[in-house]
Amino acid sequence: MDPWFGKGAVIAASVALIAIRAPHGSRSLAVPVTDDRKGTLETVLLTLAWISFFVPVAWMASPILDPADYPLHPVAFGAGVACFAAGLWLFHRSHADLGTNWSVTLQLREGHRLVTGGVYARVRHPMYSALLLHSVGQALAAPNWIAGPAYLAVMLPLIALRLGPEEAMLRERFGAEWDAYAARTPRLIP
Ligand code: SAH
Repeated sequence: MDPWFGKGAVIAASVALIAIRAPHGSRSLAVPVTDDRKGTLETVLLTLAWISFFVPVAWMASPILDPADYPLHPVAFGAGVACFAAGLWLFHRSHADLGTNWSVTLQLREGHRLVTGGVYARVRHPMYSALLLHSVGQALAAPNWIAGPAYLAVMLPLIALRLGPEEAMLRERFGAEWDAYAARTPRLIP
């Protein structure tokens, strides 16, 4: 398959991801932060996540990553597009359900509410599930050994290292309400 099918899918899915986040992100940023637990490791990983998100742009816009290209297989492309579609739907739903309680990092906002409905009734971290689906979609649809898995390589440790501290912060803030929610809801996979 022409690699530009994969490149087109990556561009479309990445633009959609940014477009879905933009209105929710700006609404959340208007609500003051009352508790910020962003540590050094989190800052480093977030910076790497931003860089890795744009590695496919460097791959498409310049010949620098061409030596790592491989042929695009239609099955990988189809599976990648399916992951993108599922990931984008879940990303949209989780932003809609989380509302202004969203932050790009470990933070609580004024009037923070524990969200347990919508997709949050199925898993405790639907947005991370969505970002992992998107990362796997990119690894499958981008036929390049560096640009394909770059985002997944950063998101996996970022999410793995964040789950514990994020849940500890929510348990501290919401106590028994959090414990009851966590007892009935799985983390990432329904
Ligand atoms: N981990 C969640 C949310 C990601 S955004 C997900 O994957 O869907 C990160 C912020 O969301 C955290 O700083 C935390 O303050 C907030 N958060 C996470 N789960 C929440 C919940 N169930 N209710 C309210 N806020 C939550």
